Amino acid sequence: MSKTESAAWHKDIAHVVHPYSNLDAHATRGPTVITRGEGCYVYDEHGKRYLEGMSGLWCASLGFSEQRLVDAAVKQLHTLPYYHLFNHRSHPPGIALAEALTAVAPEGLNHVLFANSGSEANDAAVKLVWYYNNLLGRPEKKKIISRLYGYHGVTVASGSLTGLVHVHRDFDLPLPSVRHTDCPSHYHFGLPGESEAAFTQRITDNLEQLILKEGPETVAAFIAEPVNGSGGVIVPPAGYFERVQAILKKHDILFIVDEVITGFGRTGRMFGSETYGLKPDMMTVAKGLSGAYQPISGLLLTDAIHDALKAGSRKHGAFAHGLTYAAHPVAAAVALETLNVYRDRDIVGHVREVAPYFLEKLDALAGHPLVGQVRGVGLLAAVEIVADKAARKPFDPSAGMGAWIQNRAMAYGVIVRAIANCVALCPPLISERSHIDELVGGLARALDDALAHARENKWL
Ligand code: PMP
Repeated sequence: MSKTESAAWHKDIAHVVHPYSNLDAHATRGPTVITRGEGCYVYDEHGKRYLEGMSGLWCASLGFSEQRLVDAAVKQLHTLPYYHLFNHRSHPPGIALAEALTAVAPEGLNHVLFANSGSEANDAAVKLVWYYNNLLGRPEKKKIISRLYGYHGVTVASGSLTGLVHVHRDFDLPLPSVRHTDCPSHYHFGLPGESEAAFTQRITDNLEQLILKEGPETVAAFIAEPVNGSGGVIVPPAGYFERVQAILKKHDILFIVDEVITGFGRTGRMFGSETYGLKPDMMTVAKGLSGAYQPISGLLLTDAIHDALKAGSRKHGAFAHGLTYAAHPVAAAVALETLNVYRDRDIVGHVREVAPYFLEKLDALAGHPLVGQVRGVGLLAAVEIVADKAARKPFDPSAGMGAWIQNRAMAYGVIVRAIANCVALCPPLISERSHIDELVGGLARALDDALAHARENKWL
């Protein structure tokens, strides 16, 4: 048995179905088995250390060994390991978390419906939008508009909202009531010679045209991440959301803001909504809500929407929606403690301090022959990989360049993520400058190797 081919490695291949992995290749390639974590680092089963430059899946914001979160979980497990919120029951961690979360949330979001994942929270948003409009007596107002390269999850409704072909293809998605509009990336979708302002005007005009074509009386909601994450870390152009929100208001369309990645300090403010001046009617949160130490998510609602739900109960009786483990007391206790840690350590202030250094270091890679663009905000960034800088042309997908760079960076002890034609970075919010140096340094070495690899293969 070689070093990679441990007993765990074989058992994994035999039994585990891996999300977002090439299941065919996995049979021979096998897994990287991660066994423990410490600070911003994780270790594999052979003891190799990696700087987790993606915070796992954009989520482990406080790193991998925060004792306060462990203690909160253990204490709650000893006190009340499980209870629920159905049928007028409640429990202290659920109540305290709802209070703390709505206190830090953008103004007006005073109510929260808990779930376990980002997908479930976005699914609930879709259901509540439909329910809301039924209760308002406008059953035809049901369509939801999301954006190409937006990511909102993989369940039937949230997967439909996600604007990525591979999430739909052969899964019989999207749902018929979902429409997709432009991705706000000037770099990728700007016309030759088109200014960023003209691009913003054009794509927001397209949004309004879509609404008018469908009939505003049939369009219920628009959903967006403040910064597209899994679609390639797309930072919106100036004025984009201002124009989008004016259009939504004009046509009486609800704005659902997906803060699953951007929530809790990632962009240098508590929420991306603050960074970009958004006024959500509904907002979804997950990931950083618990620093990823427990699965928990939430759908935050305004008084107006909550009032409609109450009206629904006057009509139908009990609100017929809920998940067994939503607001699980252990997850809620950990999330509450996570919010306390953010506050006590001024994590948002720390992000604002370290982010300029992070972005400056990454910007230094912009001159690299394989780097088409460096973009980011706060501690969220991407480096666009190109075969031709001037033409903004990516490598042929068959070259597998993104995965190659990702694997090379891993060999150097740094975890980044290849998505679309870019390499994404989303380091823990507790990262210090030394971590940033190590992360960007590892990526730079991987890029240099990738350049040599591309030249050897005559791809350049
Ligand atoms: N929304 C966004 C913005 C996300 O990034 C993700 C996950 N990457 C989701 C929703 C879905 O969350 P989950 O994987 O917890 O279902």
